[in-house]
Amino acid sequence: MKNKIIAGNWKMNKNQAEAEKLISALKPLVKDSKNTVIICTPYLDLEQAVCLTAGTNIHVGAQNCHWAESGAFTGEVAPSMLKEIGVEYVILGHSERRQYFGETNQTVNARMKAALEAGLKPIVCIGETLEERNSGRMQEVLATQIKEGFEGIDEEQLRRTIVAYEPIWAIGTGVTATNKQANEAIGFCRSQFEELYGKDEAQKLYIQYGGSMNAVNAAGLLNQPEIDGGLIGGASLDAEKFSAIVEAYKI
Ligand code: PEP
Repeated sequence: MKNKIIAGNWKMNKNQAEAEKLISALKPLVKDSKNTVIICTPYLDLEQAVCLTAGTNIHVGAQNCHWAESGAFTGEVAPSMLKEIGVEYVILGHSERRQYFGETNQTVNARMKAALEAGLKPIVCIGETLEERNSGRMQEVLATQIKEGFEGIDEEQLRRTIVAYEPIWAIGTGVTATNKQANEAIGFCRSQFEELYGKDEAQKLYIQYGGSMNAVNAAGLLNQPEIDGGLIGGASLDAEKFSAIVEAYKI
């Protein structure tokens, strides 16, 4: 039986003092969990987060990385730079990156390949807009994001990758997908991975739900058979709220 992977996406929040406070508060609250706990902090908090979580069950991730190893890419961070300071995970293709920074399935794919090459574990975000869902195009959008985003990724690389299904209309809006909507959409995503990689790999793959998950709705979502965890934005900024999500699922 799979445990769940609960990852916090701090986005552009928490300076170093605030990050230290949050991590210190979080450590004792999640220490007995059998779920995998990840915090994805801003770049400038990463090194401190790695130090503060050493020897604990909290893992550290970044929120993006570039596809090149080095070079003239002002403002970007190479995957090997993250790996060097002890970062394990990296969120890629978050809808905010796609919406505000021009990410496409192709750039997500390039970043994923580079992250895997450097030994990082990508958390790859996919999801549809409300307009796409309401016009009956949800499956087409998800299928394309998977096909193009995972182009050239082999089985071994897939095993080191987490997928986060995040309906864009549910991110930061307080509107959560119902348990049924989230379970069905993730079941559809898994069927696409099954077509590409076979049943066994698709079953092993962790697919999280993300979108206004909180202490109240987490148990319902995490107990759905297709949902392997959560990617949490707003509620990950508070130790009590985030730990309540981690604790909402017991094996
Ligand atoms: C996210 O940023 O990935 C997210 C799911 O945010 P929120 O939980 O705030 O909706």
